[in-house]
Amino acid sequence: VFRSADGEMPTYIVGTEAQFPPFEIVDSRGNVIGFDVDLMNAIAEDQGFKVEYLDQDFAGLIPALQTGNVDIIASGMTITDEREKEVDFSESYINAGLALAVLTGNENIKSVDDLQGKIVAVQTGSTGFLKAEELQKAGIIAEIKDFPHVNEAIEELKIGGADAMINDLPVTEAFIAAQPDVIKIVGEPLNSEDYGFAVRTGNTELLTKINAGLENVKASGKYDELLTKLPTY
Ligand code: GLN
Repeated sequence: VFRSADGEMPTYIVGTEAQFPPFEIVDSRGNVIGFDVDLMNAIAEDQGFKVEYLDQDFAGLIPALQTGNVDIIASGMTITDEREKEVDFSESYINAGLALAVLTGNENIKSVDDLQGKIVAVQTGSTGFLKAEELQKAGIIAEIKDFPHVNEAIEELKIGGADAMINDLPVTEAFIAAQPDVIKIVGEPLNSEDYGFAVRTGNTELLTKINAGLENVKASGKYDELLTKLPTY
């Protein structure tokens, strides 16, 4: 956090992994855009603070928060008990869940029941990774391959290095919308997850602002407006 030249509004650094549409992506001019960005900007405006976005790998976000390199994580991050030990989360700002995807031509894998002996691609440090680990421990999947970005997991499917991918449903949908006929979602969503913004443990001042802003943005109708924009990123 730093104070602007006029000394009035604090600027918080927001860490995000901006290869995760529709929540965060980099546009053609190099700006980080997406639902999380719109929502965080609206919260900042409501609460009288400024934000600057710092794009970095997902697995490095919590360490960056802990060392003070960023003040907030806004990165489609699922609220989990494990992460609650390392950060403080805001109230949930959206519900998502994990989905299984395969190449469009794959007719063998129709749900997790068909993953016996298969190789599954996931994003490093994600809840998709944890789900794959669970399936591996249960003796279902044979191998997990993890990649810093979802896009690289999809590439692995394309080159035949993995049979399936586990990733957040809205994100996989966004990749399919941008590049149809490469992968498809199969079966039912694997779970339900809530995304939260994260701050350093004990940073109640900032957490209170974020939660208050989120409540106001919801009450004003702004949140619903942003939600209608969600599929367009
Ligand atoms: N929601 C998933 C998680 O929290 C993935 C987030 C992401 O890759 N940006 O692990």
